[in-house]
Amino acid sequence: MTLKLESKAIRNAVAKLKFRTQAFVGGRFVKAKSGRTFVTENPATGRPIARVAECDAADVDAAVKAARRAFEAGNWSRMKPADRKKTLLAFADLLETHVGELALLDCLEAGKPITDCATLDLPDTVQCIRWHAETIDKLYDRVSPTGPENLALILREPVGVVGCVVPWNFPAQMAAWKIGPALAAGNSVVLKPAEQTSLSALRMAELAAAAGLPEGVFNVVPGFGPTAGQAIGRHPDVDMAAFTGSTEVGRLFLKYSAESNLKRVILECGGKSPQVVLADPPDLDLIAQNAVSSAFWNMGENCSCGSRLIVHASVKDDLLNRLVKLARSWTVGDPLDPATRVGSMIERPHLEKVLGYIDAGRSDGARLALGGRRILEKSGGYFVEVTVFDGVDSRMKIAREEIFGPVLSVISFKTEAEAVAIANDTNYGLAASLYTRDLNTAHRVARAIRAGTVSVNCYSEGDITTPFGGYKESGFAGRDKSIFAHEQYTELKTIWMQLA
Ligand code: NAP
Ligand code: MG
Repeated sequence: MTLKLESKAIRNAVAKLKFRTQAFVGGRFVKAKSGRTFVTENPATGRPIARVAECDAADVDAAVKAARRAFEAGNWSRMKPADRKKTLLAFADLLETHVGELALLDCLEAGKPITDCATLDLPDTVQCIRWHAETIDKLYDRVSPTGPENLALILREPVGVVGCVVPWNFPAQMAAWKIGPALAAGNSVVLKPAEQTSLSALRMAELAAAAGLPEGVFNVVPGFGPTAGQAIGRHPDVDMAAFTGSTEVGRLFLKYSAESNLKRVILECGGKSPQVVLADPPDLDLIAQNAVSSAFWNMGENCSCGSRLIVHASVKDDLLNRLVKLARSWTVGDPLDPATRVGSMIERPHLEKVLGYIDAGRSDGARLALGGRRILEKSGGYFVEVTVFDGVDSRMKIAREEIFGPVLSVISFKTEAEAVAIANDTNYGLAASLYTRDLNTAHRVARAIRAGTVSVNCYSEGDITTPFGGYKESGFAGRDKSIFAHEQYTELKTIWMQLA
């Protein structure tokens, strides 16, 4: 379905949506074994969308069994890479023809602006699957430089059954970052979407099957973290857990692994990313634009959100004026309205958490320069104004903790060393931006900041060709995207041969 980004067309498309609400296990939709369901809610209205199968340990076990059977059968895991490529390209093509529908599902469940879903998230989701598909028949294994009496092959084999547990902020895309490389490498997958956003993942599983993915290779078990998520983490026959979400839950996966079968664990977690504006910034209007996008894109519900703007004192007031003016044009409103830039918070408790941080900013003595209130309450949704605090100090709570909302903290500095120290004064290390006219400064500061991605004179997460993941408590043992993502979904095997 192509979706015209125009209000009436969007309303009509919403009215025609059909929801897949059962688990997808062994190639078909099934109820949760307990028969239980839970409500998925539209956070922009507070109203229910549908009831979704509430999977628990028994369903996870059935999905893992289906995944293992498929893996052992070998009709995916041992398929020629060129043939896996063909199937995954067909999957990407099917996703592409359903971008409008999938975009609407993510918009409705996550409160994300439809324009972002339809023009960024879902096209990126398609591209992610396509890129990993296209890569898989171009990777070579190795022969080691041993002596003439031996031949040693170093092979990459799929890990086996991969459990993926993902968040709600980019529902389809975060799933694609995991399943793209995992499936391309020949693994079987059991995916648990976030409880708030199950619908696009379920539809993706159906489309993958329609594209020819053998049954049991890609299973989706919607449900809650402590039950379904934990069951994946602790399952003795899951070979690897690939997680994106909070650092707090990420830690649990390491514990689950340690207490079960030592499954491989990769974690993509939270962030408190700095945007550093040095004393010689290029165009301040451009920086204001980047800073506003970085802080408020996806309502700040973004792991790489540039939530700390660290600005040289000489340009701070000028930049702040420009960015506040610009931020006012980021309309908060109905996510289904194509003009909306900022949708709703994901759910009421999260809205309250964000408002709690705004209160903490005020009481810690930061100066509110913009926003700060809940708005559009009559809609029933969980909207908050885009918010800017000036005069923030690195020790304040709003500068230390991941807010995951549209709240920007402005901190000023006088020397480059001070800027780097403030940027690194965090337990996180996911992303960073820096702005300078000087090439040497750019290199020096980019290397000094401890973060997985540092963008220079822009705000970016790179593209599908670049690895994405974090230093420090922003991640563990892995990277999403790029060729490096492939490696982590494989085991290294040495075959050592004695020659006569
Ligand atoms: P979350 O609460 O950690 O949840 C992530 C996933 O883990 C969900 O599927 C959740 O299920 C599940 N989960 C929750 N408790 C669990 C438990 N006890 N055992 C096993 N699984 C459990 O994170 P979120 O609130 O959805 O997402 C926001 C976080 O994700 C932020 O910290 C953000 O920075 C991070 N994030 C990181 C990246 C990255 O690439 N580094 C990208 C996007 C988001 P339920 O939904 O059912 O609770
Ligand atoms: Mg959650």
